[in-house]
Amino acid sequence: MTKKIIYYRSLGSELRERFGGKLYKIALDGGFTCPNRDGTLGVRGCSFCLAGSGGFSDATGQLLPEDPETVYQNAVQSAIEKGITRVRKKADGSGYIAYFQRYTSTYAPLEKLRKLYSAALSRPEIRALSVGTRPDCLPDETIALLSELNRKKPVWVELGLQTIHESTAARIRRGFSLPVFDDAVRRLKSAGLYTVVHMIIGLPGETPEMIRETAAYIGRSGADGIKLQLLHILRGTDLADEYLAEPFPLPSPEEYVELLRECVSALPAGMTIHRLTGDGAKKDLIAPLWSADKKRILQMISRELQPRAD
Ligand code: SF4
Repeated sequence: MTKKIIYYRSLGSELRERFGGKLYKIALDGGFTCPNRDGTLGVRGCSFCLAGSGGFSDATGQLLPEDPETVYQNAVQSAIEKGITRVRKKADGSGYIAYFQRYTSTYAPLEKLRKLYSAALSRPEIRALSVGTRPDCLPDETIALLSELNRKKPVWVELGLQTIHESTAARIRRGFSLPVFDDAVRRLKSAGLYTVVHMIIGLPGETPEMIRETAAYIGRSGADGIKLQLLHILRGTDLADEYLAEPFPLPSPEEYVELLRECVSALPAGMTIHRLTGDGAKKDLIAPLWSADKKRILQMISRELQPRAD
């Protein structure tokens, strides 16, 4: 029996409404670390997170030193330049979003944040700033800075929640509790900042009901958008060791699409869905191997979930 198609509010609609066209994200690495990696909370990171080099590389591939700050500002400019050159052919001229993606992109002294974000926003092609972070790395003064910048160009904050279930959070070593997330969303929204929440589908020990509960909770949280992502087990992570020692069930493609249906159905109609699956680094992927065929999974998803024409 053919299932009824579920329609959702897509990122494309959001971008057309707010910016008049499609914006491409330019991923930036601000040389940040993470409290789960620098010893503040731990050194091994969340169990699914693949460690990599922090810091910008310049054109010669050398890691740049921590100081002076101008080096970082120049590195932002150069990374944006390279990013724009890479996607220019596909872009429709509407502009780009500077996306500080790697690790915890608010985890630095305020002045460093100001210089990095301002360097990105100073370029005319950059129409908005997006910052990926953890809810426990948003002190009031950082939110005040983001709010100040938001008055010049839109600022989006992306929070890695992954799950609402404390048992899973402990198992993956996330390192903050749910009330910390609630408080961060409340303060971000009070400051007028557009907030996107990340969740992972397929975390160890989670049932379909638990996954649906996380989506429903995010739907009620006051956030504006959500990124849904399949768990990728990547070589070199502690989760890979755990999985290889004792494999736990992962969704099949069909189960993943069904879980997406349940999650999207649990969200309010006005919430923007920024992503329905993820991009795993294929060379590091251990499981689920079917996720490497992104074209196929996107086709399967589009048979059952489609962007609403709004
Ligand atoms: S909080 Fe984010 S960057 Fe830090 S270890 Fe976890 S997944 Fe990696």
